[in-house]
Amino acid sequence: MSHGRVYLVGAGPGDPGLMTLRGREVLAAADVVVYDALLSERLLDHAPARAERIYAGKRAAEHTLSQEEINALLVEKARAGATVVRLKGGDPFVFGRGGEEALALADAGIEFEVVPGVTAAVAATAYAGIPVTHRHLASGVAFVTGHEAADKADSTLDWDALARWPGTLVFYMGVRNLAAIAENLIARGRSPDTPAAAVRWGTTPRQQTVTGTLATLPQTAEGAALKAPAVIVVGEVATLRDRLQWFERRPLLGRRIVVTRARAQASALAGRLESLGAEVIQSPAIRIEPPDDPAPLDTAARNAATFHWIVFTSVNGVEAYFAALARAGLDARALATARLATIGPATTERLARFGIRSDLQSETFTGAAVAEALIATGDLTGNRVLLPRADIAPNDLPDALAARGAEVSNIVAYRTVPDTASCGTVADALEADEIDWLTLTSSSTVRNLVGTVGADRVRASRARVASIGPTTSATLREAGLEPTVEADPHTVPGLVEAILTHETA
Ligand code: SAH
Repeated sequence: MSHGRVYLVGAGPGDPGLMTLRGREVLAAADVVVYDALLSERLLDHAPARAERIYAGKRAAEHTLSQEEINALLVEKARAGATVVRLKGGDPFVFGRGGEEALALADAGIEFEVVPGVTAAVAATAYAGIPVTHRHLASGVAFVTGHEAADKADSTLDWDALARWPGTLVFYMGVRNLAAIAENLIARGRSPDTPAAAVRWGTTPRQQTVTGTLATLPQTAEGAALKAPAVIVVGEVATLRDRLQWFERRPLLGRRIVVTRARAQASALAGRLESLGAEVIQSPAIRIEPPDDPAPLDTAARNAATFHWIVFTSVNGVEAYFAALARAGLDARALATARLATIGPATTERLARFGIRSDLQSETFTGAAVAEALIATGDLTGNRVLLPRADIAPNDLPDALAARGAEVSNIVAYRTVPDTASCGTVADALEADEIDWLTLTSSSTVRNLVGTVGADRVRASRARVASIGPTTSATLREAGLEPTVEADPHTVPGLVEAILTHETA
């Protein structure tokens, strides 16, 4: 029987963007993923849905595996022929017991590959604005375990050597022993004035940094209630943070923001918020599904050439219509004779991905305004107008077009289905008052989210409410919530801007 293979993969320090391409590639091919308490569980989304996920790390109240059990598990799964990814925080070979696991695999004759990761000593410091080496300040860097209590008889650390080390020291797992670490270095001759810093939750929206000297850092860290996981940096390079600090300056750092768009659409909003430092909680209050009856959409695709106008009111409508064209054996050329209108830049951009320029982009979202914009290009009387839209789209647009004499085909291109699976997480987080913002990008997300968690619970928390535009705001008010901000323009960038303006006012 052919054996599987084990990949020992570094997941990086927390920021999901800091996992390597090779790591993501092997994760995407995994049959089994054995993972630790990762700083970003989102990385697991890169594994196939069918992959078995086995949690091996330490977490209160959960059964965890001993190192021997983990080693045996990796061997057993590989022997059964599986492609196994052993996912570890940071780098697998830096204080990650990856070496022990590799030895167990070598002993068992299992093929393995090591995918290095970005280790905390380098990443947390970099995000804190501290280069671990510098031509004039530190010509070397040492990674040291801080786990070995300094006064422990079995400590294997050579404190004299560490105190003399002519470069930067970075301690892992050292928060609890911070005072002992500092005392030992000072007692063995390192100057008490040596700059030092501790960085907790480095590279994540929760990053927290305290700075001082060997003499002052233990107390400062205690005062700031600094806990694990943190790295402790000792050396002149720590002073560079005063000038090089960048990550913690992000305007939304640490803000916890709920994104309620359907998962397929959430990434643009989530990405923007994260790049400003926010921690995004994805709660897709709606899901996009195909229509119950695909026949009208398919007919509208086959008959594309018979329409004078096709009006796309959403990215989903564009996607659904082009999928229907493909099913009919057609492509963009079928639209050669129709004129195309879009509402908003995102829809225009999605159409462009299919190689098509919008003839008319409306910036206003009311049915009447869109009808006006169309009529401004010529009389609509007798014009066949196709509206491939959501099942729950309001009637103002078809009514306004019909009133102008158009022959309107208002068809269901996709359905918007409530997806309340993740609402419980949001409800709990609101209850614990951990949410800074709720973002609402459509009336249906308002109904589903607020309908599930309850307006009272939102009002009782400190969470603020960001609405993408007047229609969403009106639905919010109906649900009993006053939006704190409303986007203008009514787009995702506009929404982010509105939150930023409010936060930095
Ligand atoms: N293999 C990991 C280290 C595991 S040991 C790596 O290469 O990074 C766990 C220790 O790593 C923690 O106690 C802490 O000292 C450090 N650590 C891990 N992630 C961190 C982070 N995001 N910020 C600061 N320290 C971190």
